[in-house]
Amino acid sequence: MMQKKTDVLVIGAGLSGLMAAAQAAEQGKQVLVVAKGSGALGLSSGCIDLWGYRLDQPEQVCDDPLQEIVRLVEVNPEHPYARVQDVLTESLAYFSDICAASGYPYVTSPGGNWLLPTALGTVRPTYLAPVTMAVDSLGEAKSILVVGFRELKDFYPEVLAGNLKKNAELAADCRINTLMVSVGGGDLNPNTLAHRLERPAVLNEIIKQVKPALFAGTLVFFPPVLGERADSTVAADLAADLGCPVYEVTNIPPALPGQRLQQVLLRFLKHQGVEVIMGCTVTAARVTGTACTGVTAVGNGKTMQITAGTVILATGSFLGGGLKAGMGLIKESIFDLPVKTCAGEWSDRDFLALSGQPFNKFGLTVNDNLQPVDDQGRVVLENVLITGANLAGCNYPVEKCGNGVALATGYKAGKLAGGVSSAAIR
Ligand SMILES: Cc1cc2nc3c(=O)[nH]c(=O)nc-3n(C[C@H](O)[C@H](O)[C@H](O)COP(=O)(O)OP(=O)(O)OC[C@H]3O[C@@H](n4cnc5c(N)ncnc54)[C@H](O)[C@@H]3O)c2cc1C
Repeated sequence: MMQKKTDVLVIGAGLSGLMAAAQAAEQGKQVLVVAKGSGALGLSSGCIDLWGYRLDQPEQVCDDPLQEIVRLVEVNPEHPYARVQDVLTESLAYFSDICAASGYPYVTSPGGNWLLPTALGTVRPTYLAPVTMAVDSLGEAKSILVVGFRELKDFYPEVLAGNLKKNAELAADCRINTLMVSVGGGDLNPNTLAHRLERPAVLNEIIKQVKPALFAGTLVFFPPVLGERADSTVAADLAADLGCPVYEVTNIPPALPGQRLQQVLLRFLKHQGVEVIMGCTVTAARVTGTACTGVTAVGNGKTMQITAGTVILATGSFLGGGLKAGMGLIKESIFDLPVKTCAGEWSDRDFLALSGQPFNKFGLTVNDNLQPVDDQGRVVLENVLITGANLAGCNYPVEKCGNGVALATGYKAGKLAGGVSSAAIR
């Protein structure tokens, strides 16, 4: 059986695991990441939601998410943001620096939250958007062109155009037109189409089809398929040749911008010398007292025994595999750590209830050092830190905070695992 030893073991390669690995390596630690799959990042829009709506008026978008989080932790000290308020701003800056250096920059809106168009013609709040999605003048646009591809079945320009008129604050004289273009026929999934659009000949063909439908100053919206590579060159080339601002709108999963972000972070880890083993599942853990002394991982037909000074549990929630649901029972899947659920119903019959589904809040409770604690507040494992969607107390679909919590908790766990003390963080 293969043996591996490392300073820091990160289990999970979603946003929180990748941020944790980057930050622990930054502190000079030897870091190993093992993950059975890609997690939620490649399914998400790729945007970093921090906090979407006002606490006092949940139907109103909040203008200043950072300030709203300060209020949130006062009224809800159980929320994961309460554990990472000390690093929130620096974690966002660290993330933005990585993305900018990689050629796939993320940008903030001068107004606090972006209000970005979706494929359904709604607008969604988000804090950090990749430059290819950051529509910064929707309210002033006089003309919008929504372009769809005949080969892509999951994007309907007319639905977007019709609903956007109702949902966005557009100028009274703004006209929205739609156009279907073709890259040559057949049915294509988003990745294959995005890959094709990286070919100059294909892109030129699209430019030829779009140009006659443009007016001066038109904003051009595409589905999020402008290149599979983790950069913004396809969108930039289109904008330059069309002479108009070009944006990708958010669409249903799988989403290329989320996949690009994952590539950016994996590339950064490679540069830092972090070893990443994908397709590798941690199946068991060895625990002595309150210390994890090692884990067993299985991948590519091989079994590994891994020992690490610190283990970062970044295994996500139900979707990632960090939590498992049985009859009347929710379990944490590797250490069998205590999971906080709720009294009463676990789900709301109104699937889209404004208060969200209760089960989204299930997860692990931690102290300020992100160590798991039991219902008496006692540390269960000293050298295991918990991050991201595995944490209890956050209802990301309605709060619009999923990637924000993952980013900040991952960053802090990496810093702590890297030897930075809590006192120094504060
Ligand atoms: C469809 C969808 C769309 C979303 N859209 C957005 C959005 O637009 N903006 C936003 O801010 N948030 C969004 N979210 C929420 C956000 O994506 C997540 O909250 C966040 O990314 C969670 O990151 P994570 O690293 O904690 O977990 P995950 O991304 O779930 O990663 C968990 C990782 O752990 C691995 N793993 C699990 N168990 C094991 C094991 N035993 N051994 C080895 N590896 C294991 C998984 O394979 C995976 O790599 C969305 C979520 C979903 C599901």
